[in-house]
Amino acid sequence: MFDALVLTQQDKVTHASVTQLSEDQLPAGDVVVDVAYSSLNYKDGLAVTGTGKIIRQFPMVPGIDFAGVVSESADPRYQVGDEVILTGWGVGENHWGGMAQKARVNADWLVPMPAGCDAAKAMMIGTAGLTAMLCVQALQRAGVTPDQGDVLVTGASGGVGSVAVTLLASAGYRVVACSGRVEKNGPMLKQLGAAEVIDRAELQQDAKPLEAQRWAGVVDTVGDKILAKALAQIHYGGAAAICGLAGGFALPTTVMPFILRGVSLLGIDSVSCPFEKRQAAWQEVIARLPEQFYQQACQQVSLAQVPEFADKIVKGQVTGRVLVKL
Ligand code: NDP
Repeated sequence: MFDALVLTQQDKVTHASVTQLSEDQLPAGDVVVDVAYSSLNYKDGLAVTGTGKIIRQFPMVPGIDFAGVVSESADPRYQVGDEVILTGWGVGENHWGGMAQKARVNADWLVPMPAGCDAAKAMMIGTAGLTAMLCVQALQRAGVTPDQGDVLVTGASGGVGSVAVTLLASAGYRVVACSGRVEKNGPMLKQLGAAEVIDRAELQQDAKPLEAQRWAGVVDTVGDKILAKALAQIHYGGAAAICGLAGGFALPTTVMPFILRGVSLLGIDSVSCPFEKRQAAWQEVIARLPEQFYQQACQQVSLAQVPEFADKIVKGQVTGRVLVKL
């Protein structure tokens, strides 16, 4: 028997409780993993609190991320004792996920633990960190270089945002972090490498089709008016890598930044990201994240604390990354 956080639903209300399960209850798959750590992402917050329609089949074990050790494998790519990471692929949404001491999954969804990493570090990075890396790589592929000017990161004190600030700063970009919690999180964002921290309110008014050019690039995790404002302020030929909707899924913009300034909008998805690209992003994020990130921007919680932190992340009250110890 092992511990799992199990979500059930009654009268459209989601309930989360730590429950004992046995291995024969796990869903079908070709690899069983002894999970050491999971992590809490915004999507997990929506799932555990029932705020978003993330989960359609109950009971469900949430947790879109996990890292651990293979305990059974019917796939030649993985042997008993191998350390592995899983993020995305609908795990924790429509296949039982990482917030359990054991998981049975499809081998195609796993990534071997990269050199220089361990399960705890991998989950301090998690889906959020992988996504931040994919955003930074996309900006670099689009030709955004440090000499071109400032790069804006929105939702900067969240999981994706805090990793993006750290990665960009350590690659030599001048990072402007946009946050709704400047007073509380400004000092941490500066320690992670932000040159400047601006208040979310500054970008929250309606955008004109084009505004003064402020940003060589943007990593956006919040969407809606803030993204629209940022797009209107991107330099000629600049780019925005967009991955999130923490502020809303609307995008009240015009075609002007794209057709008059040649701005590129780069959509980022980590869930179904192909294996080779995913593995390369894991290797790069581990190589580039300085040690101070893990100390300054991560906290650890138990499985029993997940519902409390899920509520906080949905309310925008979590700072940095939340590691879940199994
Ligand atoms: P977090 O909750 O950790 O971070 C989101 C941050 O956004 C908050 O910390 C807060 O930062 C800011 N924020 C919260 N509410 C609002 C609001 N109403 N208006 C403006 N800003 C707000 O979430 P994650 O970092 O895990 O995820 C961020 C987004 O990216 C989510 O929408 C998530 O679903 C998405 N995502 C997408 C992925 C993909 O593959 N495309 C993968 C991972 C995440 P502050 O207080 O500093 O303003």
